[in-house]
Amino acid sequence: MRLTFLGTGTSFGVPVIGCSCANCTSTDPRDRRTRHGALLHLAGGNLLIDTPPELRLQLLAARIDRVDAVWYTHLHADHVHGIDDVRIFSTRGRGAVPTYIPEEMKPQMTVRFPYIFSDRIAVPRGTTKPRLDLTGYQEGMAATVLGARITPFRVPHGPTDAFGLRVGRLGYVTDAKRLPAAAREILAGVEVLVLNALWWGSPHPTHFNVEEAIEAARDIGARRTFLTHLTHKVGYRELAAALPPGIEPAYDGLTVELD
Ligand SMILES: [Zn+2]
Ligand SMILES: [Zn+2]
Ligand SMILES: [Zn+2]
Repeated sequence: MRLTFLGTGTSFGVPVIGCSCANCTSTDPRDRRTRHGALLHLAGGNLLIDTPPELRLQLLAARIDRVDAVWYTHLHADHVHGIDDVRIFSTRGRGAVPTYIPEEMKPQMTVRFPYIFSDRIAVPRGTTKPRLDLTGYQEGMAATVLGARITPFRVPHGPTDAFGLRVGRLGYVTDAKRLPAAAREILAGVEVLVLNALWWGSPHPTHFNVEEAIEAARDIGARRTFLTHLTHKVGYRELAAALPPGIEPAYDGLTVELD
């Protein structure tokens, strides 16, 4: 199994429009962070985690030419609004793309994108729309996706929740403010862990700051932990140097091999 980080930035992305801070003007490519997305190369195909606004550019940059299924963590705009870029995968004769979404978020998804999900909106002859076949998932109930067993778990994310996932020895958590006991139980024994983090200090109501992510990483005890969903307040080089051993910042395009 291989994990490719497609986008490792927070909702504003890095650089932030109109910002001239050291990280926004950095020439290090690892300081250019698009919105959150990742790809899991599973035995049965490619599973896309979230459809961020830069999806097309991310897939081109990572030279990924097929997506066989999509997994949504939650429905914030920075995780969903590149959904139209899935269209290319459902127009190449493979049919609707199997798409996994928290069961409780299905109604909101169909309301937000009626042109995709409402049968009452017809596609004009000669044109196409993305076709995604939604399957709801629930905390703790493992789903078999592209031959892999995926166990989702709920994480508090301010007024809403997001869902992390465990696949084999990988634990993947974005947009969490806390890891509840049930999540920690499912994550026990992972070899590689991904956690969200924004910046050092100044606790945020809906996300881990770096200190909170370090604490969670130590508690889970994975051999390698990667931080994603980072803001322009942390530069790759400085953050990498300051993190404890075994914890490192992810960056767009980074790939990690797992057994
Ligand atoms: Zn900046
Ligand atoms: Zn979010
Ligand atoms: Zn987010």
